[in-house]
Amino acid sequence: MKVVILQSPLVQLNTPYPSGAYLKSFFLQQDIFNFSSVQWFDLSNLLYNNIFSKDGLTKLFELTTDKALQLAQKSQKENDENTAFNLQRYIFQKDSWINWIDKIKSILTDSNGREFCHEFIFSPFAPRGNRMDNFLSELNREVTIDDARFLASFALADLADYINVVFDKNFSLIRYAEHLATSQKDFSKFLKVIDSPILKNFLTPLLQNLFLQIDSQQKSKNENSENEKILFCISVPFAGCFASTLHIAKEIKNYFGKNANVSIGGGFINTELRNINEEKLFDYVDFVSYDRGYGSYIDLLKNNFLLYGKQYYKTTYFYENKIITQKENDLEISKIENDFTKKVFPDFSEIDFSLYPRLADDINPMHRIWSDGSWLKAYLAHGCYWHRCAFCDTTLDYVCNYSRIDTELLYNWLYQQAQKTGIYGIHFVDEASPPKSLSEFALLNCKNDLEQKRLTFWGNIRFEKTFSRDLADFLAYGGLTGVSGGIEIATGKGLQDVNKGTDFDSIVASCASFKEAGILVHAYMIYGFYTETPQDLINSMETLRQLFANGLLDSSFWHKFVLTKHSTLFAEYQKGMHPKLKPIISNEKSWFAQNDIRFEGEEKSQRYTDYLEYALNNWMHGIGLNKKVQSWFDFPMPQPTIPQNYVEKSIEKYENKKLSEFNDFQDFIDFTQKSNPKNKNQFFWLGGKPIVTEEGKNHLQLRWMYFNEIHNAFLPEGTSNETAQKLADFLYSLRPENHFATDENRITQEKQISSIINAKIYKKLRGNALCKIKL
Ligand code: SF4
Repeated sequence: MKVVILQSPLVQLNTPYPSGAYLKSFFLQQDIFNFSSVQWFDLSNLLYNNIFSKDGLTKLFELTTDKALQLAQKSQKENDENTAFNLQRYIFQKDSWINWIDKIKSILTDSNGREFCHEFIFSPFAPRGNRMDNFLSELNREVTIDDARFLASFALADLADYINVVFDKNFSLIRYAEHLATSQKDFSKFLKVIDSPILKNFLTPLLQNLFLQIDSQQKSKNENSENEKILFCISVPFAGCFASTLHIAKEIKNYFGKNANVSIGGGFINTELRNINEEKLFDYVDFVSYDRGYGSYIDLLKNNFLLYGKQYYKTTYFYENKIITQKENDLEISKIENDFTKKVFPDFSEIDFSLYPRLADDINPMHRIWSDGSWLKAYLAHGCYWHRCAFCDTTLDYVCNYSRIDTELLYNWLYQQAQKTGIYGIHFVDEASPPKSLSEFALLNCKNDLEQKRLTFWGNIRFEKTFSRDLADFLAYGGLTGVSGGIEIATGKGLQDVNKGTDFDSIVASCASFKEAGILVHAYMIYGFYTETPQDLINSMETLRQLFANGLLDSSFWHKFVLTKHSTLFAEYQKGMHPKLKPIISNEKSWFAQNDIRFEGEEKSQRYTDYLEYALNNWMHGIGLNKKVQSWFDFPMPQPTIPQNYVEKSIEKYENKKLSEFNDFQDFIDFTQKSNPKNKNQFFWLGGKPIVTEEGKNHLQLRWMYFNEIHNAFLPEGTSNETAQKLADFLYSLRPENHFATDENRITQEKQISSIINAKIYKKLRGNALCKIKL
């Protein structure tokens, strides 16, 4: 048997989604499986490159020119000159689009595209669309060649708009027919779109080529290939990948017939399709694998994929006119699955990253990090170490089953992957990366700095007190660039209502620490929680404004609260808690896909959406930060009841706490004298190399650079030049880069030299390069 893993389109354009990389690695664990081959294809990237190509656009315009001109005429009749102009412009410039598309892509992949930037920006023969025009007209300065990547990103978005209006209303650059999939009652709605224009005209030919390739590889390897089974695993992370998944499954069945076993799994399946009642789904797929997938495949493989009515672990399938539902518990397999989770690391080695566009679509630096760059996505831990937030899917495996991954093994693996792929950026897609794992990762990364290129990384965290200034500095030194985390409802009451497990001062302290360390910070916000009053909302909004005004956030996003079937809140409601929550529970058995549950009063918060987004968008670009928050709405809103200096006061507490934390001279003595074995604190020097200078007779000082500032500390009178130099060397030896090279000699030296450091000097060093980390 061979395995083919397929990422269904469309997901993020700039980088591969990681589930295929994990699954591939899992199937390659030869101690348990023996597949003839394991291949992973990113159909999302293949489809993008198929549409946005010379041939692709030629075909697109051939298929759509008449319709575009008809629509333009219709718009003209309706006095919609703008739409008419834009539609005609696509058609009149179609040769230009076709000729430019490869160059546009090369500008976005950095593959010899630089030279074309000049022409693309200034030539009157280069194509233009509405979004490109808007970008140029809003510049408020002369356009420069450095704007080419923005313009190229908007060019793709303009073409996507054209496709959406003229060819396929379900198309979007990321996600396909997403509006259809979330909590969808009716499976037949999907069947109506599985052959929609983009899928039929662009995905089908691509699949046909791929199948031929798979087929011929198989034939060249194996004379009995006609009977060899192929296990196709299709990853469906989002609702917007489900229609294309059905299309792919249908094409597989048509081509490979009984030789194909088709399975689906991933985020959308785990949340929306846990209770399948639709038999027709099994016309397309053979089985559905839940959660990590590993357990499901292990059980199926143990049983040679014999689907004869027996229940399998985390697997649902169809047998003799009956849906056989998953077996939720199996201690033995669950143990094997947990062991696998710790040793399976994502394998990107066969991915050609030069085919992924790095998009520049926002000047906000934190927003940019998502799409500008290709990232190797991985997790430091499976699940969330808190797993108690009220709104979160805490009853599902991907949140509640927390298990840390061995950081060193993961680091070494990712480093090898970086060397193979040329991509040194890591995006941690943890639900919330454990602080300890992050510090271990940063330290390992410093070790690599001595001789080789090192990694740069960012990811999701929880804003909690562990992220002190020391830890933030250390992480930034070790390569952390940005963090995203949930603040949700930014009031004390709101944090309690959603059971965030952190308090507002800790949120401010962690944001302040990250920002002081130069790390980008993004916050997720929630509005419309079932207990939230207009007063709560305006208070939360005011807090968010103050966070931006005080420079503690780079970006944020308002999510409308959705009550999900798998949330803590719903589980508690079912136990009789939350009497004020009134879910509208329809006969859910009749629903095909369901995760979201409507509740009484939820529509009330709908009216806030546009105003919250508009205000936030302004704040993210530094605009309107002093405007009263209620004035962003064009209907009456209460005044915030939180003080104008709410965040400032909290920052003051952070500053005081930070100073008191730096007052830890005894810890330093314990560390250098090794006098307290229970003390696990490690001190690191993160500054530039200190130098010794003379200040008057017999008076020496140490000078060094930290965060672009020069610092100094006077040494006790009478300190000799030689001793001062040894002290400078000793501090510099505490760099994280040296951590793994500790030798006995150094330890003896530490004891002698560090004794020169008195409490006064120590005060000058702490927070200014000397950093304490608990490892
Ligand atoms: S919302 Fe985030 S922090 Fe809260 S339980 Fe879910 S994953 Fe964990």
